[in-house]
Amino acid sequence: MTIAVLALQGAFIEHEQMLQKLGVHTIELRQASDLQKDFDGIILPGGESTVQGKLLHALNMFEPLKEKIESGIPVLATCAGMILLASDITEQDESYFETIPMTVKRNAYGRQLGSFHTNAEASGIGEIPMTFIRAPYVESVHTDTSGNTPEILSIVEDRIVGVKYKNQMAFAFHPELDQDTQIHEAFLGMIR
Ligand code: GLN
Repeated sequence: MTIAVLALQGAFIEHEQMLQKLGVHTIELRQASDLQKDFDGIILPGGESTVQGKLLHALNMFEPLKEKIESGIPVLATCAGMILLASDITEQDESYFETIPMTVKRNAYGRQLGSFHTNAEASGIGEIPMTFIRAPYVESVHTDTSGNTPEILSIVEDRIVGVKYKNQMAFAFHPELDQDTQIHEAFLGMIR
């Protein structure tokens, strides 16, 4: 199994290290030609969604990557990655792949709580550590035209911080920054 990690900006190395710890081969998506390679799943890491969005367009990676996601390849997205998948972003005109029908709010925890750590439940997994860094949260999930709504995987302080929709799992926190490997294992489970 090979997992491709979007490696334009942000915390991609930590995802690669976590996957290597789990014995999984990784490749980096740095340019359009990397998308032609053979891989079984994609990770969209945290970082800065506006920067990642700009680079994806500038490098002509945006459309082919969107097509791959829409074609059903399993995707794990964290933090900025979650923002890239959202159909709508609060108080922002530009959105990106729009492959999960949901509205996310960026930098949603304000200044004081901009970064924090907690332990909370993730559906089907159990209690896990969660590190939030200038994180978004999901304000609302929407029902698509076929009647499907994203499944809510995790709620912290009444806010949705984890969802699953078709082939995509998205979390507002950074599982790659803690030692717990269960989110990555759940993602690999979607592929196996
Ligand atoms: N604040 C970032 C954004 O809006 C996300 C932060 C993160 O990925 N840790 O894109």
